[in-house]
Amino acid sequence: MKYISTRGQAPELTFEEAMLTGLARDGGLYVPAEIPQMSHDEIAALSGLSYEETAFRVMRPFLGDCFTDDEFREIIAKAYAGFGHAARAPLKQLAPNHFLLELFHGPTLAFKDFAMQLIGQLFEVALKRRGESVTIVGATSGDTGSAAIEAFRGLDAVNVFILYPHGRVSEVQRRQMTTPADSNVHALAVEGDFDDCQAAVKDMFNDFEFRDSVRLAGVNSINFARVLAQVVYYFSSAVSLGAPHRKISYTVPTGNFGDIFAGYIAKQMGLPIEQLVVATNQNDILHRCLSGQGYFKGDTIPSISPSMDIQVSSNFERALFYAYGQDGAAVGQLMNELKTGGFNVSQGAMQALQETYVSGRASEEETMATIKSEWAASGELLCPHGAVGVKVANQLRVADIPMVTLATAHPAKFPAAVEEASGIHPPLPARMADLYERDERVTRIDNDLAALEAHIRKNIAN
Ligand SMILES: *Cc1c(COP(=O)(O)O)cnc(C)c1O
Repeated sequence: MKYISTRGQAPELTFEEAMLTGLARDGGLYVPAEIPQMSHDEIAALSGLSYEETAFRVMRPFLGDCFTDDEFREIIAKAYAGFGHAARAPLKQLAPNHFLLELFHGPTLAFKDFAMQLIGQLFEVALKRRGESVTIVGATSGDTGSAAIEAFRGLDAVNVFILYPHGRVSEVQRRQMTTPADSNVHALAVEGDFDDCQAAVKDMFNDFEFRDSVRLAGVNSINFARVLAQVVYYFSSAVSLGAPHRKISYTVPTGNFGDIFAGYIAKQMGLPIEQLVVATNQNDILHRCLSGQGYFKGDTIPSISPSMDIQVSSNFERALFYAYGQDGAAVGQLMNELKTGGFNVSQGAMQALQETYVSGRASEEETMATIKSEWAASGELLCPHGAVGVKVANQLRVADIPMVTLATAHPAKFPAAVEEASGIHPPLPARMADLYERDERVTRIDNDLAALEAHIRKNIAN
């Protein structure tokens, strides 16, 4: 199994190499050269299996011979052992033929744990075998950073530095990053906003002397291993609802397009998915693009669903790659145009995108109203991201096909908005009820590349 870049100019890599590299050297994103298929019978045989066994069967063909079966089973077992629900990704029913896929039972209460916990274990095994160590540096608006710290804490071969904008993440998110006591994880509160953090990380990757000397690695959502981990819960949920004998639709609260793209991979593997609905908040660049208006950047407007506040949706590049018939040169051209504002999608590619995805958006008012009405209708307390999904799912779902909306975070991660909408203060799960009492450990640091690099060098030396 080889991995190729969406821009067609980087060397082909194995699964493990693509995972450890992250971004391709031509600026593109890695995708499998061919998407493995699962037959009707193989999908039917997933019925009744544990989440872990389903994960093994769905992901195994993508790994080539990078990991043995025994190694991979153990990696999966460790990855999901810390989840607070035996089903890992349980389904709840909201209404006739409408289901909620709860993806927030991991250690940091957002779906990012499904991928991050897995790649933490994959990195550990791969680096041990190679006798190497790496430094992971990432920028976060909240959820990715806490998931990464939780996944890599205590691992021998990895140091993790997470940059977040000082004063601009929720208290739960901050505490999840600052309270782990392990000496290999480091939370950095940067004097700046999220864009400053992201720019600083990019500058470190472009400082080749620094990049090589600390062996920098990235785990943001462009890493294909993260997408792959998310393919599993499409299979586990669809099979629970009667696939492959009937079709299932999905609505996905979308920002960087990683989660919905995992649904596309599941469909290409053979899972009978009818609709793949992209749900956006008021930052609706993806909805506008999928409605035929081109992909043109605007200003990001802060919302109550902050993990979807985005203008440059990185994984959309992968969707474009397939819509353009795997033409890397065409994708490279679009990404060049994006640097100066945006691009129009060709007629053929637009048709391909619209055959695969439908889209909708929810305003702030609609999101709040949905939290309130869903609480009254089913007793489910939605986080604002899940509420965007439920609102759009109700608009676009078709009769007779079960709709599954992805609940991407626990309501207790965004207590202020949830309480304002519903009057209910969402409590943290019992296993982390002491989060507010734990000691915090964080370094406040200037938005200055030299200061950041010096801090990282000093701390990995210890
Ligand atoms: C990251 C995130 C999203 C967006 O997911 P993408 O894969 O980036 O599209 C939605 N909801 C929550 C809670 C998230 O943390």
